[in-house]
Amino acid sequence: MEKNKKAVVVFSGGQDSTTCLFWALEQFDHVEVVTFDYNQRHKQEIEVAEEIAGDLGVRQHVLDMSLLNQLAPNALTRDDIEVKDGEDGELPSTFVPGRNLLFLSFATILARQIGAKHIITGVCETDFSGYPDCRDVFVKSLNVSLNLSMDDDFVIHTPLMWLDKAQTWKMADDLDAFSYVREKTLTCYNGVRGDGCGECPACHLRRQGLENYLSERKEA
Ligand SMILES: [Zn+2]
Repeated sequence: MEKNKKAVVVFSGGQDSTTCLFWALEQFDHVEVVTFDYNQRHKQEIEVAEEIAGDLGVRQHVLDMSLLNQLAPNALTRDDIEVKDGEDGELPSTFVPGRNLLFLSFATILARQIGAKHIITGVCETDFSGYPDCRDVFVKSLNVSLNLSMDDDFVIHTPLMWLDKAQTWKMADDLDAFSYVREKTLTCYNGVRGDGCGECPACHLRRQGLENYLSERKEA
């Protein structure tokens, strides 16, 4: 890919979006990030994202998306709703209807404003948590709709789409960012940075991937 392009990374300060940010910094000349404030359970998520953007020297745009909570209260935004996996084809309690539709649309409008053609998001279909808006077909379809809506030619990149969590750790490692991502990012639903609380679904997924990757690395 040509290294003379401008890009916007959808950035939450978690493992996936931080890995995407390191990836984007290799691929593009100029990178900015957009972080959405939607009354996350933990305000800390916004602070962590700010700190990482500062560490990596990229400009951060924080957009107020509190209307999401107004429309669709869920376990990511409300302390009184329990975080749990979906059972028997149900969506997990962490699902925020329309989240990626809105986030990617606003990220693309921002991209247009700052003259960027590329939007990067860490959504992933492999460790499919049941979120319909993390599917490849959805992102491609939205990309077409956004281009039609603005008569433009944006490209939405999903570098993690087909990776499992172990492969995402490998990607961070290949980008010389393994320790940084492991220590500085926040994935845990209980707001514990780095290796997390160890109890919530996000921590289970992250730790499983980390253990798989570390055992592969040992064998290699
Ligand atoms: Zn946790």
